[in-house]
Parts: sequence; structure tokens; C-alpha cells
Amino acid sequence: MKFLIKILFLLWSAAVYAEPIQHTEKKTFSFDLSKLSELPRIKPCVIVGSGVAGCVAGYYFTRSKLDGYVIKGPQPGGQLTGAGLVENMPGIPTMSGFEITTNLQNQAQVLGVQFIEDAVVAMDLSQWPFVIQLAQGETLYALTVIIATGSAPRKLGIPGELEYWGAGVSTCAVCDCFVYKDLEVAIVGGGDSAAEQALILAPYAKKITIFVRKDQMRAAPTLQERLKEYDHIEVVYNKEILEVQGNGEVVTSLVIKDTPSQETSTFPCDGLFLAIGHNPNTSLVQPYLDLDESGYIHLATRSQETNIRGVFVAGDVADGHFRQAVTAAGTGGQAGLEALEFLREIGITERTLRRYIKE
Ligand code: NDP
Repeated sequence: MKFLIKILFLLWSAAVYAEPIQHTEKKTFSFDLSKLSELPRIKPCVIVGSGVAGCVAGYYFTRSKLDGYVIKGPQPGGQLTGAGLVENMPGIPTMSGFEITTNLQNQAQVLGVQFIEDAVVAMDLSQWPFVIQLAQGETLYALTVIIATGSAPRKLGIPGELEYWGAGVSTCAVCDCFVYKDLEVAIVGGGDSAAEQALILAPYAKKITIFVRKDQMRAAPTLQERLKEYDHIEVVYNKEILEVQGNGEVVTSLVIKDTPSQETSTFPCDGLFLAIGHNPNTSLVQPYLDLDESGYIHLATRSQETNIRGVFVAGDVADGHFRQAVTAAGTGGQAGLEALEFLREIGITERTLRRYIKE
């Protein structure tokens, strides 16, 4: 009897765990190739976003000899451009984020990726070919689209934060570290970014205080160890920032709450760096694509395909967890390959496409 129950349990668990997670029914189209010749400016693949994920997606797609177009977007190179020294890119000894993104874009150009210096303002993913509207007025029609729009740094949403944005409030230590030479700065956050920002600021600022809202940091232990090497970096726990104060021109202090005692105090400083995580850039695709509870694009399987056939995703916009340059690169490569597979499935190769596309 015991044996029978065990077998039934094993069969049941196999059935439960083998069931694929399907968020919504997949949207598909008739993929009528004959209508392509009626449309101007058809692009085999449009990649929205030029960070690591977008560039690598471009490499992989373009190696097929079909043209991949990367829309540079409002922050060419993406967030990695603002990263300090990156020491965990495979095969690349320590190098600045800016240098890495410059290399990525140069490499993409060598491999034949075409960059469009513009930003997407609207997309229609409810029809195929997909329609992409650019800020400078051009409309593109794409046979396949890869969304690689990344994510943007979160804000605290407290008084004074926007008033002193760029005048003491910053999210980019690497961009602004020189401004804080011999000055006192605060950092809010307890993750890798907070620790990294402190290490970038360390050679410049006179004093750096990291405000962590819990009683511990979640930054990698190695980064936390490195913070201890600097006498002028202090980590304080259980603190909430309530307000950014200034003299009308620059930041002069913060209002801080000690959460256990609920007491508030004024903390004099010259700048505040925000390192409290990111929000995915999904406003363009939100009407069409399934998002998860945190707003990231939902991937139902290990594939980079979305709930719309022909639309793929790469990088942080679908990854609120790892958010590493190397994972963005990996998913970029996968999305590029999957976009190619999709085109092959609907009968498009370099040779067949020449019949339809007008230049
Ligand atoms: P995380 O989401 O890892 O950390 C955000 C931190 O901000 C947490 O400590 C969180 O607190 C805190 N926080 C969130 N909201 C608030 C708020 N309103 N007020 C105060 N504190 C707040 O983001 P990161 O940007 O640090 O890292 C994101 C990813 O990027 C991670 O996977 C990280 O490993 C990676 N990364 C890697 C780097 C590297 O390898 N060199 C460098 C930078 C990032 P709480 O802990 O309480 O939730």
C-alpha cells in the first residue's frame, strides 16, 4: 500500500511540475508576407535599446546577414555607461562601464549592426509587421522586435528630492564623483549599488555615510568588506530619509528618521546618492505585453519570447533579480537567435526577404 501511495505521489508531482506556466494565451498573426511589399521602411529586426542586451541581440541577429537595427534611445549604452570599474565581465579584466559600452557599440558596428540615433515614442504590437514610431517623426515597420529598454533608478519620492535633482541629488557616482571632492555625501540603499557608489566616491569625498533602512546590508559580502577598508565610509542602519533640504541652490542637509526610536534629526551633507534599486522601462509595451507583479516583462518559459509571437525581450526589462551585465548579454544573444528562428519559421531568410523589401 505504502509503495502504491509513493508511486501515485510521484506521478502526481511529475504532472504538477511538468505543467508549463502560461500567463495568457499567445497572440499570433497570419504573417501574410505578400503585404510586405506595400509597406515602406520594413526592417527585419528592430531592437529597442542600446545597452549590453540590445547590442548583443544585434550581434547575434545580424550575423545571419539580415539587418538588425538598434534604436539608441534616451540613454545610449544603457546603465552600464554609468558603472564604475566592472570586474566581473568574462574575459575582460577590470574596465570602466563606459569603456565596456563603447567597445560593445564599436563591436556591434563592425559586425554590421545598424544604429538609429533616435528614441521610440510609441509602438503598435497589435498588428504585424509591428509599427514603431520614432521621436524625430519616422515610422518603422518591423518583422520582429526585441525589447531591450532596461530599467531606471528608483526615486525616494520625498520632499526636496526633485528640487535638488542634479544639484546634490544624484544616481550616478561615476558621473558626479569629481563634484564632491572634499565634501560630505550620503548614500541611501543597502545593495551592491550603494556599496559600489561609496567605493567610487571614496577617493574624492571627505566623508561618506550610507543610510540603510534595515539592520543589515544586502550588498555582496566582498563589497561590504571593501567598504571597511576606508575610515571615512560609515554605514548606519535602521534609518529612513524623510526630506532633502538645501539653500535654494544646492543640498545642505537631510532629515533622517531613526526607525526603532522614531526620532528625527538633521544630517548635514553636500549630496545624496540614490541606490535603491530600479524600475523597468515598460511604458511603451505595457498595453501589449504581460508584466509580472513588479512590472517586469513576464517570461512564461526560459525562452526570451513574450506573449506576442515575433516580439522578444532581452536584459533587465525582464529581469528584476540578477540585473548583471553578463546576464543581459546572455539574454540578448538568446533573443537575437530566437528572433532569427521566428523569421525562419514564417519563411523569411535573407534571400526570400529581397523579394518583399523596398529600400
Ligand atoms: P537592490 O534591489 O539589490 O538593492 C536596493 C537597496 O535599496 C536595498 O538594500 C533596499 O533595501 C534599498 N531600498 C529600496 N527602496 C528603498 C527606500 N525607499 N528607502 C531606502 N532604501 C531602499 O538594487 P541594486 O541597484 O543595489 O542592485 C540591483 C542588482 O544589480 C543586484 O542584482 C546587484 O547584485 C546588481 N549590481 C551588481 C553590481 C556589481 O556586481 N558590481 C553593482 C551594482 C548592482 P532592502 O534591503 O531593505 O530591501
